[in-house]
Amino acid sequence: MIEKFDIAVIGGGIAGISVAARLSKHAKIGLFEQEDFIAHHSSSRSAAVFISDYGNSDVCELNLITFHELQSKYPDILKQRGLMSLEKDGEIEEFKSHAKSLGLSPISVDEAKEKAPIIDIKSVKQAAWRDDVFDIDTDLLIQKLRQECISNGVQIFTNSSINSLESNNDKWILNSKIQSEILINSSGAWADNIARLANLKPKNIQPFKRSMARVEIDTSHNLSSLPVLFGSDDTWYAKPDAGSMIVSPADASPCEPHDAWAHEEDIALGIYNFEKMVETKVKKLTSNWAGLRSFAPDQSLVIGPDADATNFFWLAGQGGYGFQTCLAASQIAEDILFNQTSQVPSSISKKFSPHRFA
Ligand SMILES: Cc1cc2nc3c(=O)[nH]c(=O)nc-3n(C[C@H](O)[C@H](O)[C@H](O)COP(=O)(O)OP(=O)(O)OC[C@H]3O[C@@H](n4cnc5c(N)ncnc54)[C@H](O)[C@@H]3O)c2cc1C
Repeated sequence: MIEKFDIAVIGGGIAGISVAARLSKHAKIGLFEQEDFIAHHSSSRSAAVFISDYGNSDVCELNLITFHELQSKYPDILKQRGLMSLEKDGEIEEFKSHAKSLGLSPISVDEAKEKAPIIDIKSVKQAAWRDDVFDIDTDLLIQKLRQECISNGVQIFTNSSINSLESNNDKWILNSKIQSEILINSSGAWADNIARLANLKPKNIQPFKRSMARVEIDTSHNLSSLPVLFGSDDTWYAKPDAGSMIVSPADASPCEPHDAWAHEEDIALGIYNFEKMVETKVKKLTSNWAGLRSFAPDQSLVIGPDADATNFFWLAGQGGYGFQTCLAASQIAEDILFNQTSQVPSSISKKFSPHRFA
């Protein structure tokens, strides 16, 4: 028997869960996730940081909209942490452009040492800072959105890979047994594959692998009050997390969609670059992982109906900002799919239209 939905959402990461929660008051929704549990891929592997100036100027508009909704609707998700960029000798231009792109203000090396006592003032030549950078409690946000989905009747199917898509009388047939009026493609790194299954043109959404290590460091300082630390040469960043530190080599290796894992050399390089800027040593590597950050060619999200099939809705290209844009992106989806008075000005939402690649 064919199971029928108004909307089928493919992908149970932050994009899929947040759009399903948003639309759940309007429609009968089925969410399909290929893995055994939701948020198995990128959405459980992020650095969980909110920086309002991260991304191009269009993406930054989504950051701000998401920030305001997070603060009003989910006030326990963001915790202020601050961010510091550190220059090592000879990287003056990189430092300036890094500080400018993230909206940081210069501070003295002494002030930097006060804010982050683990840094090595012999290595740090300049520092820049902003207060309003936040940790995102990504697990809690996903739990809350999932709960919203369930309360509003969304059916979440895990272990349910969508392998075939047919269009029949303006409806989609998934895996020959599920029918839906509208399909939302929120499949992260697999977004182009889903378009191909639907016989639609891909948008050249390219996954890039980024790695992360959880480490214990040899220090008597209180780690929990440290800011996010960035090497201004973009070779490492680090932040405290659950009593230890997470350190990334800030790598961005293009790859095919897959269940990503970290290469030892990438992890070693990130730790090496981090250790050069701090007084302490890494005592122990506790765990490591990698995830995929998937970007459209212009680095902006792709949100809206496909030009060749208006009931195929793209929600992809979340790149390195999928959490900090998620509520704005789901709001744009609601505005477009339910013709409601625009919550997000159309001057903003049209910038993300898939039609720009037609
Ligand atoms: C190391 C790292 C650090 C990051 N740091 C930050 C940060 O600080 N702040 C921030 O905002 N963002 C950050 N990001 C980015 C953020 O994690 C991503 O943008 C976000 O998780 C993407 O969410 P998504 O739902 O699009 O993708 P995913 O979480 O990958 O979800 C897509 C889902 O679709 C499923 N799927 C694919 N194909 C099918 C199919 N055929 N059938 C059924 N299911 C399918 C997959 O199994 C997957 O679960 C970081 C990412 C990484 C890797």
